Amino acid sequence: MSTNPARRNAIEAIASQPRLQGSFDFRNEKIDLIYGQNVFSLDKMEKRLPKDVFKSLKSSIEAGIKLDAAAADVVAAAIKDWALERGATHYAHVFYPLTGFTAEKHDTFFEPNGNGTLAQFSGKALIQAEPDASSFPNGGLRSTFEARGYTAWDVTSPAYIFDTENGSTLCIPTAFVSWKGEALDKKTPLLRSMAAVNKAASRVLALFGKKHGYISASCGPEQEYFLIDARLFHLRPDLYTCGRSLFGAKPAKGQEFEDQYFGTIPDRVLACMMETERECFKLGIPIKTRHNEVAPAQYEVAPIYESANVAHDHQMLTMTLLKRVATKHGFVCLLAEKPFAGVNGSGKHVNWSIGGSGVGNLLEPGHSPHENAQFLTFCSAVIRAVDLHQGLLRASVASPGNDHRLGANEAPPAIISIYLGDMLNEVIEQVKKSGSASTSRKGGHMTLGVDTLPVLPKDAGDRNRTSPFAFTGNKFEFRAVGSAFSVAGPLTVLNTIMADSLDKLADDLAAALKKNSDFNSALQGVLKDILTKHGRVVFNGNGYSEEWHKEAAKRGLKNLRTTPDALPEIVSKSSVEVFERQGVLSKAELESREEIYTHSYVLTVNTESKLVSDIAKTLLLPAALKFAADLTPVEKTKSGGKLRKEVIGLADELASAIDALDAAREVSKSDTHAQAKHSCDKVLPAMLKVRAAADALEEIVADEYWPLPSYQELLFLR
Ligand code: ADP
Ligand code: MG
Repeated sequence: MSTNPARRNAIEAIASQPRLQGSFDFRNEKIDLIYGQNVFSLDKMEKRLPKDVFKSLKSSIEAGIKLDAAAADVVAAAIKDWALERGATHYAHVFYPLTGFTAEKHDTFFEPNGNGTLAQFSGKALIQAEPDASSFPNGGLRSTFEARGYTAWDVTSPAYIFDTENGSTLCIPTAFVSWKGEALDKKTPLLRSMAAVNKAASRVLALFGKKHGYISASCGPEQEYFLIDARLFHLRPDLYTCGRSLFGAKPAKGQEFEDQYFGTIPDRVLACMMETERECFKLGIPIKTRHNEVAPAQYEVAPIYESANVAHDHQMLTMTLLKRVATKHGFVCLLAEKPFAGVNGSGKHVNWSIGGSGVGNLLEPGHSPHENAQFLTFCSAVIRAVDLHQGLLRASVASPGNDHRLGANEAPPAIISIYLGDMLNEVIEQVKKSGSASTSRKGGHMTLGVDTLPVLPKDAGDRNRTSPFAFTGNKFEFRAVGSAFSVAGPLTVLNTIMADSLDKLADDLAAALKKNSDFNSALQGVLKDILTKHGRVVFNGNGYSEEWHKEAAKRGLKNLRTTPDALPEIVSKSSVEVFERQGVLSKAELESREEIYTHSYVLTVNTESKLVSDIAKTLLLPAALKFAADLTPVEKTKSGGKLRKEVIGLADELASAIDALDAAREVSKSDTHAQAKHSCDKVLPAMLKVRAAADALEEIVADEYWPLPSYQELLFLR
């Protein structure tokens, strides 16, 4: 085989790898026994804590409030004993800074006490810590001289033990705030938004005369990812530096056969999935589904939904475990939104609903007449929220990685709209017209709170992949979220705008009830008004089509194509107002976020563009020129001469594209927003020109000269 030697070695190693020996076998292991074994769950707390302390902890958990100091000491001692029994040597406050990653600082339990060591863990160490985490982006919320940042235990998310090969660490999920109490992380606003949903939903339910417990937002995130052989991955500086390929000619075979989606899972991949799931089970993460995705080497994992806050922590852990376990199996897990041009990218569908004890899922259409009024009320609140805050929702999924995916006819467009499905749409249209609905299906006239809704189909599968926000039977599915995202941002936005819509609805309904004592007709008036004003955001057609782009513009919907277009929405007047009204984020906190994300966009494009220039200059252009030089002896032959000319022509094209990219990279604007715009409008297109010339060379330069593993190798060898 005349392949480049480094690539040849990798391919030979893959071809001759021994069949994997499993380190465990689910057939001999009761999932029941390992499930949650590493979590300090409520039942473990109950067994290990005095009754009164357990009661006080349980009520803190239910209300999401801080534990008092005396109780904290008792809880800390119990957690410590449990952790030590399980072999933990260290503890860590885990937090979620604005980088979008998980952060942690480990301390050992063991302290010298003169004649050995003693395990220490106080209540204070459990509930609060002050990591010297001054290097995290804070967008101006703290200057380094007052860089105190505190982590505080989020009692609503249980502590757990994270096992690694050489030891175990007790992890305590925390919120990360400045000394003034400003949010420096993604969890704090998520928790605040959960409280806002509970408060507003309770107001609406009170008007319905409903008794209920705590109303919580729920989330079930579906995660798509790629698994690539580690040996090939390490020959691609673009993959190991940026997580996505910056070069690569289109392979002969891509995803056009559609033989990958839901196909048989290869043994080596399945072994890796099972081990990931086992680690998830130990941590009480309720993984439910695994399958092949559309692109070659692409897969999906999805859990059963949980309270949005816990789902967030579990999702972050799932991403960590996907990466860790993949490495053990000789894979690398790519979470980037678009690792490979020309095949599908990866998303993270955020399934979201709200509900609670006593009322169940509030987006469940139900079977009885009074359920129809309640369902349509909550559904209308969603429609209003999404219409009013389209820009904010778009901004919550904006990142340089996701820009390569959104709007690329494989993922939803950058225009935010809602898919309801024909049946529900028909009902909504009727309410809009008359304040009540008559369904053609039943032929009769349907009135709110009197008749039952038609049975709404649960829209499983791919049918409406083109919608960024789809109603799927009893929940909404936010499909524009990128695969590498923390779900905290999108969930915080959804909860906040929903809470605000519900508040408005409660105000309007209360006012209408003062004038009109008939509940159903008062409600009909309110819903009719909402749907008339905000129904424009509902779209049930093909989101990929040209016509939709035109139609959306006519309806006045926003089409924010890129991250620099979208991010300013975070600090728009309506965003600041809704976040402040709901007590979720202040103007200063929003400004800091917008600044951090804009800066991060610039940094990403800087890194990627430098790498494009470096790889092109030091790996690809030399390879092409060497090949051309080696062709000199056959220059006089017809084929040799033609090929040499072609290679030199493209090499020259590549060289000038590199020069143009370097020139674009040198432009430096004093304002971050102007720099982001420049990165987007000038640097990214210049990178693509370099890539185009290099990819064309890859197709004609002899394989033994080409240093980068091809798409074919990356996507099909395992
Ligand atoms: P699909 O989207 O492929 O049809 P499902 O609808 O069964 O699959 O589930 C997708 C995800 O939605 C799962 O993670 C599931 O737990 C989650 N989900 C289901 N019901 C809810 C809900 N009420 N709130 C939030 N997520 C939910
Ligand atoms: Mg789904």
